[in-house]
Amino acid sequence: MRIVHIASELAPVAKAGGLGDVIHGLAKQQKQQGHHVEIILPRYDIIQFEAFDTLKVSMRDLWSYENSTQIHNSVWSATIEGVTTHLIEPHHTSYYFNRGKIYGEADDISRFIYFSKTALEFLLKSKKHPDIIHIHDWPTSIVAPLAKEIYKKLGLQVGAIVLTIHNLEHQGKCLAKDLSKIGLRGDDFLTETSMQDPSDPTLINLLKGGIEYSDIVTTVSPRYAEEIKTPLGGGNLYQTIQRHEKKIIGILNGIETEFWNPANDHHLIRNYNPDPHQIRHVIKAKKQSKEILLKKLKLSEPQGPLICCITRLVNQKSPELIKEAILYTLEKKGQFILLGSAPDKEIEKEFLKLKNNPQLESSAFIQLSFDETFAHQIYAASDAIIVPSLYEPCGLTQMISMRYGTVPIVRKTGGLADTVFDIDLSDKPVEQRTGFSFDFPDTKGVHWVLDRVFDCYENDQKKWQTIVQNGFNIDVSWKHSAKEYEKAYYSALRL
Ligand code: ADP
Repeated sequence: MRIVHIASELAPVAKAGGLGDVIHGLAKQQKQQGHHVEIILPRYDIIQFEAFDTLKVSMRDLWSYENSTQIHNSVWSATIEGVTTHLIEPHHTSYYFNRGKIYGEADDISRFIYFSKTALEFLLKSKKHPDIIHIHDWPTSIVAPLAKEIYKKLGLQVGAIVLTIHNLEHQGKCLAKDLSKIGLRGDDFLTETSMQDPSDPTLINLLKGGIEYSDIVTTVSPRYAEEIKTPLGGGNLYQTIQRHEKKIIGILNGIETEFWNPANDHHLIRNYNPDPHQIRHVIKAKKQSKEILLKKLKLSEPQGPLICCITRLVNQKSPELIKEAILYTLEKKGQFILLGSAPDKEIEKEFLKLKNNPQLESSAFIQLSFDETFAHQIYAASDAIIVPSLYEPCGLTQMISMRYGTVPIVRKTGGLADTVFDIDLSDKPVEQRTGFSFDFPDTKGVHWVLDRVFDCYENDQKKWQTIVQNGFNIDVSWKHSAKEYEKAYYSALRL
């Protein structure tokens, strides 16, 4: 099959969160399964270009437009771990992708609808006729209506369009005139069964457009697919989702197990094999990693479990409960490392205040930034990770942790509930129980689960090691999930 992903992120070169990891891992696995896979991405200034092989300009002159202005673009092509990637560089007066970041600009809507349009223009001009165009979240959702309403008529042949919803919260709301900029008559799409926003009928909702116009819609875990089909989980898009229920399926994310591999992870000071039969070796290596990291961070000698949290600090991730987890861990004489990127200034302020709290002393460390190397070192050195999300479409940190012998502690929601089974309370066979979970996203819930974590760590190391071994035995790779996507593609193509 010829598959083209049109996406706003690609790990490890341009990543803000899990979406980037998914494009990286899924595309690579699809290629290994024999498909012809290409990725189209904006040429951000922050891209780590050294990770690409044979980067060169493959199309010097690609013309696109915005309103009535013709805009010149160049396309760069390269491979990354064997997968062909095309980077679109607009020579645009607004320097759309030279902003030092991926998201968070006032004109994000204009940036990504322009990119989506130009990606289709590139497919048309380069005479690529993919079987599948796979789009991801609101930034590339407009590809679906645009392909069907305009590019099909211009001669672009596409077998089917598949949209993956990585997070329903972000929907890309804009004015009808924003669509007119890229050649769609905006007002025509202000209808209930098209792109009209269900909460504000004067607005266009890009993610809704993706759902309406794609042949198949996937979510990143089966539980999340079920959750968004309820009024609570579906929120303002509940009715849209209901209407398209039959074409929505949940496929659990995997992780890229070559990249996330403590045996050869170049970010680590001490490597170890995630092998359940070498558990003693693993425990020793993790202990050393912890000692080295604590020393580097000027924290005290190891005492109690080292718990971590690696996350975007946004409401979805329950920042209040992360704070509570830090304070309660310290109260119980454990240690804590938080690595959090905080796009919201208010939340950032809260955590800066906590960082300066004398209670943290030498037992907790907080870094408020995005730091890939540090993340890897924390996964390796920690005993456990806490993910207390309010909702979680899939979540990757709990899966990465299992691969690093770090026990996940999760709130039972979405993909967290699909991937972590409680060692004491799950009805799964014992060998599939890989962590701790709690139901209620409140202080009591966090205390209750941490009490059980501390009890196990301090009084039953044998049980703790069993949890780590069980985690190593779980297949978190993309193999199975990529097969599921293949099935979804064939059903979209009605083959
Ligand atoms: P989301 O996509 O909602 O941010 P996921 O759990 O699906 O959450 O994916 C998060 C990914 O981003 C993981 O690979 C995690 O290691 C990484 N990550 C999150 N926050 C940071 C950070 N502050 N620094 C480095 N990596 C981070």
